[in-house]
Amino acid sequence: MEKRAIKILDSDFTNDFQIIAGPCSIESQEQFFTIAQELKNIGVKTLRGGLFKLRTRPNSFQGHGHVAYPWAVEVKKHLGMGFVSEITDPRQIDDMSKVVDCFQVGARNMYNYDLLKELGKQRIPVLLKRAFSATIDEWLYASEYLENGGNHSVLLCERGIRTFETKMRNTLDVNAISYAHLFSKYPIISDPSHGTGRSDLVEFGALSSVAAGANGLLIEVHNNPEEALSDKDQALNLEQFKSVYEKATKLHKFLKAQN
Ligand code: PEP
Ligand code: MN
Repeated sequence: MEKRAIKILDSDFTNDFQIIAGPCSIESQEQFFTIAQELKNIGVKTLRGGLFKLRTRPNSFQGHGHVAYPWAVEVKKHLGMGFVSEITDPRQIDDMSKVVDCFQVGARNMYNYDLLKELGKQRIPVLLKRAFSATIDEWLYASEYLENGGNHSVLLCERGIRTFETKMRNTLDVNAISYAHLFSKYPIISDPSHGTGRSDLVEFGALSSVAAGANGLLIEVHNNPEEALSDKDQALNLEQFKSVYEKATKLHKFLKAQN
């Protein structure tokens, strides 16, 4: 299916293969800057980094929230990179729209239709994650909430679903990637970090997503994964990420040349 033209700053998410990368959470300005600079050297153009973290346990690190806005602004300005971060409440829109180049709607909020309606009124792209147990139709209908408000800049994100399997945090649904590739007008981004929950499986998830038709990837990277304040088991270090970046980019190029 013909995809809508979607850009985050100058990066074309429709025609080019894009890898969004960065830490699960922005832990400090130094941490974010260090990771971002290394990612830029590898070729990444769009950063991720959580400001507000919706955690399963209330006592887990919840993100630095507003305190980290100037850190993110400083890093992205200094390096000239795009920035995607999760919004958890419609009341964050006004301030956060000055900080992010793309709002992320997390799996826990895919069904938050009031939030989707408000984001539909914005003219900032939205990366819409699939909820843990959403059917493909429910996920695509959620994108229509954005579209009905007039926001046509949507990136669909498959991030793994909940199945009977317990070895992995989630089951990355490559069928959903292929389905969205064929039948949605929006580019599809795969998140093999949450989709597997294990750093040793992220590369396999990334490459299978590319083969399944993903237009891009979202990957969690940390300069010191063992010390990460959130999602440390799935964070890649910079060396591991470089390998995924190179292989996934090459695979995408190879497959594109076959068509
Ligand atoms: C995240 O991207 O860090 C995140 C919390 O993702 P999800 O909403 O997919 O769990
Ligand atoms: Mn995370």
